[in-house]
Amino acid sequence: MVIINLFNVDIFRQRLRSGMVTDADAEFGTVHVFHFHMGIHELFIFAVQLIRLHSCWSLEHLTASMKITKLTTYRIAPRWMLLKIDTDAGIVGWGEPIIEGRARTVEMAVQEMQPYLIGQDPARINDLWHAMYRGGFYRGGSILMSAIAGIDQALWDIKGKVHGVPVYQLLGGLVRDRMKTYSWVGGDRPSDVIAGITSLRNAGFDTFKLNGTEELGMIDSAMAIDAAVERIAEIRAAFGSTIEFGIDFHGRVSAPMAKVLLRELEPYRPLFVEEPVLAEQAEYYPRLANSTSIPLAAGERMYSRFDFKNVFHQGGLSIVQPDLSHAGGITECCKIAAMAEAYEIALAPHCPLGPIALAACLQVDFVSHNAVLQEQSIGIHYNQGAELLDYVINREDFKITNGYIAPFPKPGLGVEIDEERVIAASLNPPDWRNPLWRHADGSVAEW
Ligand SMILES: [Mg+2]
Repeated sequence: MVIINLFNVDIFRQRLRSGMVTDADAEFGTVHVFHFHMGIHELFIFAVQLIRLHSCWSLEHLTASMKITKLTTYRIAPRWMLLKIDTDAGIVGWGEPIIEGRARTVEMAVQEMQPYLIGQDPARINDLWHAMYRGGFYRGGSILMSAIAGIDQALWDIKGKVHGVPVYQLLGGLVRDRMKTYSWVGGDRPSDVIAGITSLRNAGFDTFKLNGTEELGMIDSAMAIDAAVERIAEIRAAFGSTIEFGIDFHGRVSAPMAKVLLRELEPYRPLFVEEPVLAEQAEYYPRLANSTSIPLAAGERMYSRFDFKNVFHQGGLSIVQPDLSHAGGITECCKIAAMAEAYEIALAPHCPLGPIALAACLQVDFVSHNAVLQEQSIGIHYNQGAELLDYVINREDFKITNGYIAPFPKPGLGVEIDEERVIAASLNPPDWRNPLWRHADGSVAEW
């Protein structure tokens, strides 16, 4: 009778994906396997879950000979790249290796990592990470670390799916029940942020981030300072303390002007100022922190624990923002998060990217006690041609309630990718580049 009740392929597949196979499902699944030609991936998941149900055969036995067989990259709108890693067991993992504006360079770097991966056991993530990082003699930097990051994410996705649990379970389990997210407001040239905040508040957000300035000279005018400060003053006048917001200086502000702007903005009590100066000027972080009470944040342009080591040592930052798709993936960012915790520095992973990158961030957030905020890209000004959930099947798991997102329940990273849609989108990928800005005198400006 139970079998009849469950005789619905979609329900059965849902139960497979959620790791909730029962005896009744098993009986039904057996029928399904032999009469309805299940895909090899589903068959593998089914077998793993039967093993977990009955403990009749060891998981290690089933996966002992598992090997990585193929890496496939898809460059897609708006400016993302997804990576699929295939295994001979039929389990696949998804990652998001990308540097925005250098997708093809990262794609080539991923391909050049293949000799470290093809034929290897995907379970040995730590060893594969070090092979990719140390094996090539030269290491670090945005391109190589982004390639490693996406591969690392896909390997964790595979491991979670093999064991039938979300990645955060393999990392020690949840440290919180829900994660606070924030939303971007305004674009590259911030204007009309009041209307943007009003509309996002109606969608449930109470925490925002906006760009602090447009291009700013190394020594700029009182008019430029006034324009930046007036925008922030308008936000506090309109919303009082009912919202919180961070201000992204985006590396556009020189060290001399950062000192001026931080002092002028202090009365409006922003939650943080991000990249008050570029990471290559990190020696200014402690000096600026000594001149302001505004918490300083940075990290999206730091690529490993070795880059972060220097800023932890020098001090000045209150929040670090490693990007899970740029800083070596889940393996490396868990270590960066733990280092930050030891320095009483909060974690707020950078993520203006796609669904796999966000899922990877959340795995780290949910096991890191010092994680305070998660960036996410719904409605961000960069999302031209595709939105965060366009390539996702299980969109319901990305629901944001009162600004909080719950742990994804599905195994691995918890994202079911609509591969047909990804393949279709990859046939005509955009060549996204950030604009090249110039100052009034014709010299190149930081974007
Ligand atoms: Mg930023």
